[in-house]
Amino acid sequence: MTSRTSGNTCGDCIFFGERTGIVRTRNVCERPGEKLRAVEKDAAACDAYQASPRASFGLGQPRANAAGPAAVPAPAASALRPTPGRQILCDTHCHTLFSRHAYSTLEEDVRAAAAQGMELLGVTDHYSSMLFSQQTIQDWQYFLNLWAWPRRWHGVRLLRGCEADIIDLDGNIFGHDIFFDKEINGSAYRKPHSLKKMAFAQCDYVIASVHNKDFTEGASREQITRMYLRVLEDPKVLILGHVGRTGLDFDLDTVLGAVKEHGKLIEVNESSLIAQKRAGSYKRCRQIVERCAELGVSVSFGSDAHVSSLVGHHEAVDALLDEVHFPQELVACRDAATFAGVVESVIGPMAE
Ligand SMILES: [Zn+2]
Ligand SMILES: [Zn+2]
Repeated sequence: MTSRTSGNTCGDCIFFGERTGIVRTRNVCERPGEKLRAVEKDAAACDAYQASPRASFGLGQPRANAAGPAAVPAPAASALRPTPGRQILCDTHCHTLFSRHAYSTLEEDVRAAAAQGMELLGVTDHYSSMLFSQQTIQDWQYFLNLWAWPRRWHGVRLLRGCEADIIDLDGNIFGHDIFFDKEINGSAYRKPHSLKKMAFAQCDYVIASVHNKDFTEGASREQITRMYLRVLEDPKVLILGHVGRTGLDFDLDTVLGAVKEHGKLIEVNESSLIAQKRAGSYKRCRQIVERCAELGVSVSFGSDAHVSSLVGHHEAVDALLDEVHFPQELVACRDAATFAGVVESVIGPMAE
């Protein structure tokens, strides 16, 4: 920790502790390279925290009041320190306008990642039946031109991905049974092209998630376990997305064992941990993270941002990882070199 700046610090922040209902384990506003930010005398919190996702989850506006912001007692500083060396510099899960219920452009996400001090951003739009009621190659051409993205933008290493839907108990992924006869310009292919194959071809990695759980109704624990095991066999799938939030019952040790064996990753998802939004999933997320630590399974970090203001924010993930004393060597997103190394060792060299 660097030395304290003058003025109030977030030790006096009104967003603290019980006032917010949010587990905040730090009394400093910390961003990589920007360890401690002073709070203006009349402000309720530093500008970094006011701009953080917390402000947009029903916490109301920060109050600047004459009596000063010290009404909430600051928890003991020792309880608030992050684990020494805790560092997350890669956000591997965010969405752009292409996902339809997301609101930012690719460049806005990249700029936001840079502003949050991220070294690497993986942009992973939904690849799912959620997007279109009928599937045409014209609607999916977004994934056919990913090579157009620069590899480095605004100082951030940019990775190409998608968040693909798991659609049945056999662990099949959306589009595996959809084929197109024609190219986007209407000329005929020599043989039908698989939507899934085309969508995955230019992705550096894929996050596999369940969004619509209808197909799991009545399924046994064994069937869900087997589903995840089958998904992990897909050579492009690197990460199982938000398994805690999805809430399916599966044999944790069996699935985590397979993740480890493949050298793949379990996602720790910021969006799943936002208290007001995801009340039910915290316990399960914590249980999964604890077991990852015990079994030596590596995790990825995903903000799951659907708007650029949330890209690269990992306050809740930090809090959870700190709470369970998660080993930093199992955080695959601790820096760009580590995450890129995992991608290349599991999936293969990334395209130019
Ligand atoms: Zn979404
Ligand atoms: Zn998702």
